[in-house]
Amino acid sequence: MSFSGTPLPERRVDIDLAAVRHNVRHIAEIASPARVMAVVKADGYGHGAVPVAKAALEAGATWLGVAHIAEAAQLREAGIEAPILAWLHTESSDFSAAIEMGVDLGISGWELAHVVAEARRLERPARVHLKIDTGLGRNGCPPEHWETLLGEALEHQEDGLLRVVGVFSHLAVADEPDREETDEQIERFRDAVAVAEDAGVDLEVRHLANTPGTLSRPDSHFDLVRVGLGMYGLSPFEGQTSLELGLRPAMTFRTTIANCKEVPAGHGVSYGLSYRTEKRTTLGLIPVGYGDGVPRVATGAPVSVDGRRYPVVGRIAMDQFVIDFEATGIVGTDDSLLGHEVVLFGDGNGTPTVDEWARACGSINYEIVTRISPRVVRRYVDPEADS
Ligand SMILES: *Cc1c(COP(=O)(O)O)cnc(C)c1O
Repeated sequence: MSFSGTPLPERRVDIDLAAVRHNVRHIAEIASPARVMAVVKADGYGHGAVPVAKAALEAGATWLGVAHIAEAAQLREAGIEAPILAWLHTESSDFSAAIEMGVDLGISGWELAHVVAEARRLERPARVHLKIDTGLGRNGCPPEHWETLLGEALEHQEDGLLRVVGVFSHLAVADEPDREETDEQIERFRDAVAVAEDAGVDLEVRHLANTPGTLSRPDSHFDLVRVGLGMYGLSPFEGQTSLELGLRPAMTFRTTIANCKEVPAGHGVSYGLSYRTEKRTTLGLIPVGYGDGVPRVATGAPVSVDGRRYPVVGRIAMDQFVIDFEATGIVGTDDSLLGHEVVLFGDGNGTPTVDEWARACGSINYEIVTRISPRVVRRYVDPEADS
C-alpha cells in the first residue's frame, strides 16, 4: 500500500508500451519485406488505440488499421498522420469525414457509390482498397462481381474521384495452420489481384494476412500484413504460447484485496451460494467484476496474490468476486492480506495469463482484453522511455 505520493488507481490495466514495440519489431522481421499495419480497432483491443498506435509506428509499423471511420478520426485527432485504413461501414458512416481526413476506405460493393458521391461534393479523391471475399463470407466482393466492381472503380478513378490504392481480403482459419481453406483463400486472392492488375489498376498494397497468417503462412504476406493480436503480445494458436512465439503480452490487470476475513467451513460465497468453503478458511474479496469487463462465466480462473495462485470461487458479480485463501496458512492468525496486490493476468512471468482466463470462460484471448471496461484505468508503463 502506498500512503504517500499519487495513489495508484484502485483497479487498473498497465500497458507495457516497450512490449508493444518489441512485438511490432519481432513481427516486422517475420513479415519483411512486407510492411506492417498495426490494427488498433476497438480501442486497440482494449489497450488504448492512440498510445498503441504511436508505439507501433515508432517500432516500424507504417500503416494503421481500424474497423470504423470514427476510430480513424480518433487517431487523426491525436495528430497521427500515418496512412489509416477503415474497413467496416454502414450507410450512415461519415465517408466525407474520411475523405477530408485522408483516411483510406475498404470497399466491398455498395460503399463505392456513397464514397464517390462524397468525393464529388468535396472535389477531393477518395483513397480506396477493394475487398474481395476469398471465403470468409462476411464483407468483401463475391468473386463473380469482382470485375464489375473493378470496372466501376476504374471509371471513377479516371474521373478523378478516387484512387484504388489496394486490394485486400481476410483469412478465416489461419489460426489452424493445417486447414486447407487457407490455401484456397490465398489462391483466390492471387487471382483477384491478377484480375485487378490486368484491368490496369496500379496497386500500392496487396494485403491478406492477420496475425495467425503472418506467423504461420509466409505465402499470405504479400505487401502488407494487418496485425492486431500479435502486437498486443498474444498468441492466436491453441497450442502455442506467447513466449513460444517470441511475443510479450502487453497488458497486466491489477487491483488489491478489498476485504479479507475468516469464515467457518460450509460458508457460502457470492450470489446463488454455488460455492461453499470446505473447512475454516480465509476469503479474499477482489473489487472487480463484470462491470469492469471480467467475464461473469470465468469462475475458476486464476489470480495471483504475493506470487501464489488462487482460483475465483463462486459467481463473479458486477463489481467483485471472491478467492479462497485455503492452504495459505493464514487461518487463525492476525495476518491479513488486505491491500495486497492482486494480478488477474499479465505477461505470464509469475502471473496468470490472458489465455488461462480465456480457457476458464470458453472464449478467446482477443475477447478477454478487448472487453475490459472504461471503469478500469489504463496506465502506460514504458520501461525503455527516458524518465
Ligand atoms: C481485426 C482484423 C485484423 C487483425 O486480426 P488479428 O488476428 O488480431 O491480427 C486484420 N484484418 C481485419 C480485416 C480485421 O478485421
